[in-house]
Amino acid sequence: MKFVREQGRWRLRLGLRGQMLAMLGLMMFLVIIIFSMLWMNEKSNHREMVSLTEIAMNSIDRSNLKRKGESLAARSTPYIADSIQDGNSKVLQGKLQELKKRNDVVYAIAFDGKGVILGDAAEGSSNGKPMVDPLASAVMAAAGENKIVSQWNEKLLDIAAPVMQHGKRVGGLRIGMVLHEQSASNVSLLQPLKNNLKKSNDRHWRWLLATTIGMFLIALGLLYLLERHVIGPVRDLSLATDQMEQGRYADVNLSSNRLDEIGGLTRAFARMSAGVARHDREIRRMAYTDSLTGMANRLAFRELLEERLLTLQANSGELALLFIDLDDFKRVNDTLGHEEGDEVLNQLALRVRSTLEKHGLSGSQVARFSGDEFILLLLKSDIRNSSSELAEELLAEVRKPLALHGNPLYLTASIGITLFPFDANAAGVLLKNADIAMYQAKVAGKNCYRFYSRAMDQAVERRVQLEQDLRGAFERGEMGLMYQPIYNLTDGRIVGAEALMRWQHPRLGMVPPSTFIEVAEQSGLIEMLGRHALVLACNDAAMWTKTDNTLPFISVNVSSKQLRGGELNDVIETVLASSGLKPSQLHLELTETAILNDENQASVLLSRVRATGVKVWLDDFGTGFSGLSHLRRVPVDGVKIDRSFVTDLLRDPDDLALTTSIIAMAHSLGITVVAEGIETEGQYAVLRERGCDQGQGFWLGRPMLAQEIAKLFAA
Ligand code: C2E
Ligand code: MG
Ligand code: MG
Repeated sequence: MKFVREQGRWRLRLGLRGQMLAMLGLMMFLVIIIFSMLWMNEKSNHREMVSLTEIAMNSIDRSNLKRKGESLAARSTPYIADSIQDGNSKVLQGKLQELKKRNDVVYAIAFDGKGVILGDAAEGSSNGKPMVDPLASAVMAAAGENKIVSQWNEKLLDIAAPVMQHGKRVGGLRIGMVLHEQSASNVSLLQPLKNNLKKSNDRHWRWLLATTIGMFLIALGLLYLLERHVIGPVRDLSLATDQMEQGRYADVNLSSNRLDEIGGLTRAFARMSAGVARHDREIRRMAYTDSLTGMANRLAFRELLEERLLTLQANSGELALLFIDLDDFKRVNDTLGHEEGDEVLNQLALRVRSTLEKHGLSGSQVARFSGDEFILLLLKSDIRNSSSELAEELLAEVRKPLALHGNPLYLTASIGITLFPFDANAAGVLLKNADIAMYQAKVAGKNCYRFYSRAMDQAVERRVQLEQDLRGAFERGEMGLMYQPIYNLTDGRIVGAEALMRWQHPRLGMVPPSTFIEVAEQSGLIEMLGRHALVLACNDAAMWTKTDNTLPFISVNVSSKQLRGGELNDVIETVLASSGLKPSQLHLELTETAILNDENQASVLLSRVRATGVKVWLDDFGTGFSGLSHLRRVPVDGVKIDRSFVTDLLRDPDDLALTTSIIAMAHSLGITVVAEGIETEGQYAVLRERGCDQGQGFWLGRPMLAQEIAKLFAA
């Protein structure tokens, strides 16, 4: 029994047992009341019976007394008639006193025809006086009838009889008699009745008491049976429901061998509870497991981290979080498809796991955080050195080629590391720190790890600031274009130029495109900036004239967002019309990933662009995963071999071989090949020798202002 507050009101909550007890109490109370009423009724019946018996006996007594008195009066009147006739009051007195000697006679009076007392058993003090007592008038009224008159006054019987002498009335005799003698006999008669009644009363009382106690015991027995067979099991079920509600499935302990409904219900409930517990485990497993790799997921990791932090805070331990992000994983998905991407993630997850196992790092945990992100919790002493060793090993593991249907795939990863308790105490902050550190590892060139430092926070802030500054930079006149000349490698003639965007930041000075293009891409500003660059570049290029009367081309970098934005064709048409530039003079540079995101859609879009006469080049060719076969499927006019191949051309025979095959393949498809980043004469010579059509690079000419390149063309 307890009080609970419901909707602002206190209410008494009674359990089944409480309700049963209350009902039993109420029942017993009613039974006792009914029995008491029965008993009281019985008592009053008995009293009534005694009093009726008394009345009946009394009336018998009275009629007996009356009969006795009347016969006494009848017998006595002749006896005193002489004395009245003679007027011998002394003798009369004596006779009257004789009468009064009987113990039931209280008075005896003789009177004359007029009601005057002639003699009185009580010493004759009233002789000669008229009778004045209350019964006298009735006696005198009946005197004329010459018969015996008896009347009752309380317990006193007054009998008046005429005294006759020779047939003539000479006076009267009054005898007063009382009942006391008969009453006493009545009492003795009534007593056994009363005793019997009392006995029966006592018997009834005991019977009632015994019945009440019996009923109470039966009720208790019933309650015990109810408690054992109904209330107890129901309470167990209710307890089990509470435990299930609180998720404490292990505490649920229900079983029953009973063959009745309650047994059936208990067993059904036990089965249900086991089923719910199984489902709960399954749901928890699903909620806490990454379906692809079978690793713990973000949710499970977060909980584990919080738990570990609590214990570490208590015994001042250390831990490291390693945030692993695959570099350019998007390209794997984009170029090889999501199924292959999943396979790659699975293989990498295995490698990460086995690296941990190799080190026997008990208490450590690895989870897939999202897409291509893994997170690792490391528990070890000398945490800084341990985590950098582990990070290096992980990087080496990721770098090992992955076997995908027999083809090797090379990947790298960037790792951010944060340390507890040095960098932060809270799980959320630690995760954020690890992410920031990972991002810095990417900025530092990928395929490396970085420890979190407070300065990195500033780097993130700087990035946010940069994005803010980038908005409106064009309107403020901070954005401009530089042009890098592109030459024919065969004859060394200048044939065109690539437009490269520059941002003259009022505070930071020259911000390189490697910094701001990514920010612009992510913030969506690239579409607007790219449009302005296209207009500006076309307008500048329209002014260029060449002495040999050939038309120089302008090559403009276009982001994938612009290509898919839908308005690229309109912008091109408008700008060509307004600048007067010939369509064939405009080249658009799109990176491999921009095109290969969705090859079919890109092909349609590119065909539409090429239909206007504008040429399309694949930029940074070789860095993606497209492979040479893709060149057959996408309609492009040229490829630009990425700078990274050109840089090592003379040192790395693989790069030379690849460059050579790109050139051969492109030529077989009728595609122009342009080499980027030619920094030395040697590179220039090799590329020329291998048949590369065009080239650009610092050795040939650095990016320059519009006026300078115009002079270069005119020269
Ligand atoms: P990209 O299109 O591959 O441009 C070539 C980059 O290589 C330019 O860097 C250029 O200055 C640099 N470069 C040329 N020759 C050499 C060399 O001999 N040695 C070295 N070390 N570097 C050389 P930049 O101007 O910093 O541009 C970087 C990237 O920014 C570009 O790569 C391009 O992807 C992007 N970008 C530049 N302007 C725009 C633009 O207007 N729109 C878009 N969407 N992207 C742009
Ligand atoms: Mg380019
Ligand atoms: Mg490039």
